[in-house]
Amino acid sequence: MIDDNVRASRQTADQRQELQISFEFFPPKTDAMEEKFWNSVHRLAPLKPRFVSVTYGAGGTTRERTLRMVSSIKAQTGVDVAAHLTCVGATRDEVDAVVRSYQAAGISRIVALRGDPPEGLGQPFTPHPGGYQNAADLVASIRRVGDFDISVAAYPEKHPQSESWQVDIDNLKRKLDVGADRAITQMFFSNGDFLRYLERTRAAGITAPIVPGIQPIHSFKQISSFARRCGTSIPAWLAERFDGLDDEPETHALVASAVAAEQVTELLDEGVTEFHIYTHNRSPLALTLARILGRRSES
Ligand code: FAD
Repeated sequence: MIDDNVRASRQTADQRQELQISFEFFPPKTDAMEEKFWNSVHRLAPLKPRFVSVTYGAGGTTRERTLRMVSSIKAQTGVDVAAHLTCVGATRDEVDAVVRSYQAAGISRIVALRGDPPEGLGQPFTPHPGGYQNAADLVASIRRVGDFDISVAAYPEKHPQSESWQVDIDNLKRKLDVGADRAITQMFFSNGDFLRYLERTRAAGITAPIVPGIQPIHSFKQISSFARRCGTSIPAWLAERFDGLDDEPETHALVASAVAAEQVTELLDEGVTEFHIYTHNRSPLALTLARILGRRSES
C-alpha cells in the first residue's frame, strides 16, 4: 500500500510528463526593448514551450512587427510560434490578408481576438463597417483560410462588456464551436475564480482546454493599473503583500516569485496541466515558474 506522500509525488511526476507551457511576448518598439525581448526569448525557448506567442498591438498597430517577430523567433529558435490577431479598425479583406501573410510565413498558430476600441475598454466596441463583428466571426473566417491551430480569449472574472455570465459563456462556446482549439484566460489572481469558471464552462458543455493565463507581477503598480483596465480584481491579500515595496526591488521580486509560485502549485494540485505565462518580455519570473513546473533547459 502506498502512502499519500508517495501517491502525491507520483501524481506530480505524471502530471509533469504531460505538462504544457506557453509564453507570451509583445513586439518591441525600440532597439533597447528589442534587445531585452531577444534575451528573454533565448532564455525561455530552450524550456521547450508548446509555443510562444506575440501580441498584436491595440488597433492593429503592430501588424508588421508581430509578423516579423514570430517569423524571427521561429527561424532563430525552432520553437513553434503563435501570432495574435485582432479585428479592430480593419476590413475583412485586410484581416484576411494578415492571415494569409501568417500562412505564407509558415505560421500555423493564431490567437484570435476581437481587440478593444482605441479609446479603451470603457468604450463600447463598434466593428469596422466592413470588418468582423467579434472574435467568433474572426475564428470562423480564419478556419476558411487555412488549417490553423486557433486559441481564443476567456475571462475567469467575466469580460467587462458581458452583461451576464450566460452571455459570457455563450460567447466563449460560440468561439470554440466555430473552430477554436483552446481558450487562454485573462490574468487572474484568485485561483477560486479560475476553478469556478472551469466549472461554468464544463456545465455549459465546453470540453476544449481552458488554459490559465499566469501573470507574474514584475511591477505591482503597473499590473494593478492594467488589471483595473481589463476587469481583473486585485485581492486585498495581494495588495497587502506588495504594500510599501515600490522602492524595494529585491523584496518586490522575491514576493512576486513567491506569489506566482503559490498560484501555479495550487493549480497543479487541482490537476491543471497547461499554463500560459505572460512574460512582458522579461524572463526571470517566467523562468522561476517554468522551474516550478519541472522545466529545465537541458530536459
Ligand atoms: P469577443 O470574444 O469577441 O468578446 C468580447 C465581448 O463582446 C464579450 O463580452 C462578449 O460577450 C461580447 N460580444 C461578442 N459578440 C457579441 C454580440 N454579437 N453581441 C453582443 N455582445 C457580444 N488585445 C489586443 O489588442 N491584442 C492582443 O494581442 C491581445 N491578446 C490577448 C490574449 C489573451 C489570452 C487575452 C485574454 C486577451 C488579449 N487581448 C488582446 C485583449 C482582448 O482583445 C480584449 O480582452 C477584448 O476586449 C475582447 O476580445 P475577445 O477576443 O475576448 O472578444
